[in-house]
Amino acid sequence: MIHFDNSYARLPDGFFTRTPPTPVDDAGLLALNEGLAKRLGLDADWLRGPDGLAMLAGNALPDGAEPIAMAYAGHQFGGFVPQLGDGRAVLLGEVVTPDGARFDLQLKGSGLTPFSRRGDGRAWLGPVLREYLVSEFMAAMGVPTTRSLAAVTTGETVLRESALPGAVLTRVASSHIRVGTFEYFAVRGDTEALKSLSDYVIARHYPQATGPLSLLDGVIARQAETIADWMALGFIHGVMNTDNMAVSGETIDYGPCAFMDVYHPDTVFSSIDQMGRYRWSEQPQIAVWNLAQLATCLIPLMGERDAAIEAATRSVHVFPALYQAAWLRRFAEKLGLGADAEHQQLIERLLTLMAQQKADFTRVFAGLSDGTARDEFALPAGFDEWAKDWQALGPDHAMMAQANPRRIPRNHRIEEVITTAIAGDLAPFQRLLAGVTHPREDRGEWDDLAQKPLPTEIVRRTFCGT
Ligand code: AMP
Ligand code: MG
Ligand code: MG
Repeated sequence: MIHFDNSYARLPDGFFTRTPPTPVDDAGLLALNEGLAKRLGLDADWLRGPDGLAMLAGNALPDGAEPIAMAYAGHQFGGFVPQLGDGRAVLLGEVVTPDGARFDLQLKGSGLTPFSRRGDGRAWLGPVLREYLVSEFMAAMGVPTTRSLAAVTTGETVLRESALPGAVLTRVASSHIRVGTFEYFAVRGDTEALKSLSDYVIARHYPQATGPLSLLDGVIARQAETIADWMALGFIHGVMNTDNMAVSGETIDYGPCAFMDVYHPDTVFSSIDQMGRYRWSEQPQIAVWNLAQLATCLIPLMGERDAAIEAATRSVHVFPALYQAAWLRRFAEKLGLGADAEHQQLIERLLTLMAQQKADFTRVFAGLSDGTARDEFALPAGFDEWAKDWQALGPDHAMMAQANPRRIPRNHRIEEVITTAIAGDLAPFQRLLAGVTHPREDRGEWDDLAQKPLPTEIVRRTFCGT
């Protein structure tokens, strides 16, 4: 039923373990992404039926699947861990679409693997629905991201701070190779494996690249675009560890991630990020730090060592300029303007006003088109003065409508639909999903989803508790 072609499973043994998913008690479908199924050439009716559901829950392996848990390492909050790996996920296999695009199908929350360490290999409903909502919103906004094909309940409980309903997410990615995958082999001094991995990533993601240095340049360029996308949506990833940075450039591992309501550059939500290492404004610097780790891994493949170090360093130092250009393009678009350097100051003036007056990030930009942006400012005089200068430039409203979502998956809404889903009512989740996957549409029935949280609804902390 599914045509798999599992290229990663053909790599040498040390890249993964062959580990099947662990069956669950009682699989139930929470969500199925029909549009994505179609994109993958999969039959949504089959996925929804008993055989499909069994696959999505890890209870049956379809023909051609070769489940593996991938090995990787990673810097977590700056500290190196030489072995992490898929501790609660398995890659079922790769699907190649009729137009030749290759996608990983991964079950997340699928049970113990040799990489589980002290974990239970499982996921619970909350983070699964959160990842589904946020990743599909990102995809709708055109941000490079992993996707969510399906979410199922397991009929089992998962023990976190309390006993919670278990769930499995079927994640789709152009691959699950991370900066940490390179680190895994680099720390072992396994240059041969690094070469295989580098060749594999070039063939799969950067076919124009001429070698490891050019691969590094490719990853740097894509990450600069992705991080600029995040910034332009007020998105805070929350755990930008090197094991959570995909070399494809896709956003991956939605854990304690969140979007800002009120704009402030130092916003951080993750309860485990007490130093604010991964706060909104730090994300570009952290990306550079992570990319420097990738560069370090690739140096042994680049010939004479001193020259390699010099070249790799030069490449990493290109990131700020690429990022700055991407940032200017994104924020100029949000104002309906071209990416002229002279618009930078106008953008910064608006952001400063927003921070001073604690304005809602999404509502200000969405409200620029219909004149409601000024309502977001406690003292609108400053905004009016800014708006006069902005209007004089003749902003393009179609451009703004494309760049600025009306609705984002706001924290308080996500938590609300998780609570009702736990109680057995999926309708609020489905409604929020519909609203955030059509983020630009102006539909009265979704007006409440565009509201900012009431003071009593504000969520200030998100938890890994995955
Ligand atoms: P994360 O913080 O989710 O990016 O995960 C970091 C590492 O911890 C990865 O190796 C995960 O596979 C592993 N991990 C996270 N949660 C679990 C769990 N419940 N059981 C086993 N391993 C886990
Ligand atoms: Mg884009
Ligand atoms: Mg991770």
